[in-house]
Amino acid sequence: MSPTIVPRPSPNHGPRPVGMPVELLVLHYTGMPTAAAALARLCDPASGVSAHYTVDEDGTVYAHVPEDRRAWHAGVSTWRGAGDVNGRSIGIEIVNPGHEFGYRPFPAAQMDAVEGLCRAVMGRHGISAADVVAHSDVAPDRKEDPGELFDWPRLARAGIGLWPMPSREDQGPFDAAEVAALLTRAGYDAAAPRVLLAVQRRYRPAALTGVADSETVALLRALVRAMGR
Ligand SMILES: [Zn+2]
Repeated sequence: MSPTIVPRPSPNHGPRPVGMPVELLVLHYTGMPTAAAALARLCDPASGVSAHYTVDEDGTVYAHVPEDRRAWHAGVSTWRGAGDVNGRSIGIEIVNPGHEFGYRPFPAAQMDAVEGLCRAVMGRHGISAADVVAHSDVAPDRKEDPGELFDWPRLARAGIGLWPMPSREDQGPFDAAEVAALLTRAGYDAAAPRVLLAVQRRYRPAALTGVADSETVALLRALVRAMGR
C-alpha cells in the first residue's frame, strides 16, 4: 500500500548531473529531538540540507524535493568506488531522535510507510535491492544512521535491501586482503576506518565490535554472493 504523501517543499536542491541515472536509495534517520525540528531544518534555506522525503513516526510521508532533482542528504559519501551519492540517489529521512537524542525503535506504522515508499521509489527508477543503502554504508566514518535498531530484515523480506544468510560455504578462515576485497565488492569504501562497524550496524546489530570476525566475514561473503558481485 502506498502511503499518503503530504507536500512540504524544501528549497534545498539542485539539478542532477546530466545523464546520471538514479540508481541508489539512501535511508537515514533524522537524528533530531522532534519531527518538527527535523522538518524545519530540512526546509530551511540556511541549513543546506534536504531529502526527497521524510517519514514521520505515525507513517505520514512528507515530500520535500522532486525525485528528478538532486537533494542534499548524503554529504561526502562514496559507494561502489564513486562519489556524488546525492547525484545518483533518492534520499529518505526517517524520524528518530537517533543516537544523540534518545535512539528508539522505529514504530510499525512508520515502517509500513517506509516500506510502501521505498517500493514505489524503487519501481519508478528501477533501483535494485542491492542498491538500497544506509547513510552509514556510504559514509561509515561520519554517520551511524539509520542504525542498529532499524528493521532491515523486514524490508529485505519485501525486496528492499538484502539480508545475507550465510551457508556452510561462507564459513572458514579469512585474511585482511579477503576482507578488503569483500568490502569493495559489496560497495563499501574498504579503507574507511569504521567500515566494519557500518557492516555490523546493518547486518549484525547484536554485536557492534568494528572488528573482522568469522561471523562478520561469513555475512560479507553471503552478501556479495547475494549481490551477484
Ligand atoms: Zn543521514
